[in-house]
Amino acid sequence: MIVKISYDKLPDLLRQLSDKLAVYLPVDKENGTSVYEKYEEGKTLSTKLNTLRSAKDFFFPQVQPMAKFRMEGQKITVEDPREEAEDFVIFGVRACDVRSFDVLDKVFLAEPVDTFYENKRKHSIIMSLACGRPSETCFCESFGINPAEPAGDVRMWIIEKNLYLQDVTEKGKDLLSKLDLSALAASTDESANASAVDKEKSRVQSVYDKLPLHDLKPTDNRDRELEVFKSDLWKELSDKCLGCGSCTFVCPTCQCFDIEDFNAGTETHRFRCWDSCMYKDFTMMAAGQPRKTQLERFRQRFMHKLVYYPKDHEGMYSCVGCGRCLRRCPIHMNIVKVMKAFQEEEQ
Ligand code: SF4
Ligand code: SF4
Repeated sequence: MIVKISYDKLPDLLRQLSDKLAVYLPVDKENGTSVYEKYEEGKTLSTKLNTLRSAKDFFFPQVQPMAKFRMEGQKITVEDPREEAEDFVIFGVRACDVRSFDVLDKVFLAEPVDTFYENKRKHSIIMSLACGRPSETCFCESFGINPAEPAGDVRMWIIEKNLYLQDVTEKGKDLLSKLDLSALAASTDESANASAVDKEKSRVQSVYDKLPLHDLKPTDNRDRELEVFKSDLWKELSDKCLGCGSCTFVCPTCQCFDIEDFNAGTETHRFRCWDSCMYKDFTMMAAGQPRKTQLERFRQRFMHKLVYYPKDHEGMYSCVGCGRCLRRCPIHMNIVKVMKAFQEEEQ
């Protein structure tokens, strides 16, 4: 079912949702970025394409407390911070970021299941938002993602002065059934709404087709793993990489982490925090660093996204074409340049 409400009614929709459960949405910040924040009266939905940090924070936060050890004399007690999460809505997630949840699920929900991640993931309800005007750094379609038809539990389109909502999953249907749509003066004229959405999808496609990366396609290198690994191209591509890790921190699919203990005197806090395969101390072991040069670390990041991950997951790539790394790298290196360099080498 697709329902239409006037975009003016968005605050009422958010109010109705937040009366039932916590709602998080992208909001504009003074520095020109947008970030996810908990909805409260007066906050409005950002219409920017990508949030600065992706929505992976909800399931795989930058810092995750894992345990607390308290010492009293000879006695040590262990506290487990895990509590069953409450249902919550992530409102306005773009198509690329919704796909990133599938990429992360295959890692964190594989055996042994990461219960910290699973707890948040199963309580989330995703209300995705179609992109009306994809930008020149977008290349989601390279990975089979339709920016005008995001996955999620409920998908939404902003078309002219209206907001269209479609239930996609049972969870989404259940959520919409709890809302008083008549108070939002919703139109449920299925055929008119579906036709407006179809028109919008075609319009977005014609915008996308004019973008510089519209015809970028990843090369399936699953059978050429060793050849790609040994390529001389890595030297040239990685030469200027500063190892700053910005690309990994903004990436919705990067999942490297470190586990550390912080000694706070009478108690010790164990936490997990994001790490980066671009850092020279990543995976440092007693025997030393297995990837000693920036070339090796750089190669690892892109081999993982474009070869190892698809090899392990039936061809699914660990990139969703969100374009964040294209905008954030201080030396303008990114996954698009890597993909193009290997395509040119093959030709
Ligand atoms: S590698 Fe870059 S474009 Fe791909 S998902 Fe990560 S940040 Fe987005
Ligand atoms: S953002 Fe650029 S310079 Fe920094 S680690 Fe990534 S590729 Fe290297």
